[in-house]
Amino acid sequence: MNCVICGSPAVIYKNMCVSCAAESIRLKAPGKIEVSVCRKCGSIRTGKRWIRSDVERAMTDYILSLIKLNDESFELSLNGMEKANDILHLNLQASLNGITVKHFSLDIPIREKMESCTLCDRKSGSYYEAILQLRFEDNHNIEPYEGIIRELSSIRSEDPDDFISKIVRSEAGFDIYAGTRRLVEKMIKFLSDTYAGSRKVSKKLAGKDEGHDLYRYTYLFRIFNYKLGTIMSVDNRTCCLVRIGSGSMTVEQEDGYRENISIPELSRRGFKIIQSHPEIRRCQIVSRDNDIATVMDMDSFATFEIKDRSGSNEILISRWKDNDFVIG
Ligand SMILES: [Zn+2]
Ligand SMILES: [Zn+2]
Repeated sequence: MNCVICGSPAVIYKNMCVSCAAESIRLKAPGKIEVSVCRKCGSIRTGKRWIRSDVERAMTDYILSLIKLNDESFELSLNGMEKANDILHLNLQASLNGITVKHFSLDIPIREKMESCTLCDRKSGSYYEAILQLRFEDNHNIEPYEGIIRELSSIRSEDPDDFISKIVRSEAGFDIYAGTRRLVEKMIKFLSDTYAGSRKVSKKLAGKDEGHDLYRYTYLFRIFNYKLGTIMSVDNRTCCLVRIGSGSMTVEQEDGYRENISIPELSRRGFKIIQSHPEIRRCQIVSRDNDIATVMDMDSFATFEIKDRSGSNEILISRWKDNDFVIG
């Protein structure tokens, strides 16, 4: 069959050759394009959604959604776009079954409306989903903890919702307000892996979003300052901190069983401080009978027996209720 218009033998569409088919294609384009751009982060809004990543791709899709061909059997694609003086220069092409039929170049006035996107609004409005309350067992000097705040602030993710909206310092410690609960959980993970501390989570109803309850979460992390003799509970068993290593500690249970526990493990095993300012007694060894030492409290001069394998002449004892723990 030959082209019904020019008689050429190569027919590709509706009995027409490539050039005659191309002649029949028209572009339908709007008189101008309007797009909202966030003045702070450069996100664009096409329709209702703000697009933050792959903005160029989003812009291409948006433009192609505005420009149509009179015959939708042809496929329209955007080969290039350039903006100069509020005019968008577009290079487009129409193709049929992968064969390019026609090129178009088109100039459309573009108006960029400078706005602030929802995310930047949230950040500047101190939006938060969760708070990390960082507290210190011994907080008369929180200066050294500025370093911890720096480390926490450097925890990032790919997701732009994971932002810190503000950090408030108070007498008690620091409150870090974060855009997502997920970010605070990452911070808690870092803290539990690095520091011995106790944690607590609470949530509060903050409103409703499309019928769903919206909660705000408060994570409390209390960093414990190592002090020998501290009475704590690990796995709900009372024990005493008798030795401090690097990244780990040795605790002794009431039955005398000693165990070395790493810091992350300590957090996992739900450790709690029972007495952070233990009563520490300095005692002198009076005599020894195998593991049993008779000691004298150097303040009260009281003598008593205790199990001790240290072999030294003087020992420190942390007393809790009826139990004595030998430190060291
Ligand atoms: Zn023809
Ligand atoms: Zn923005």
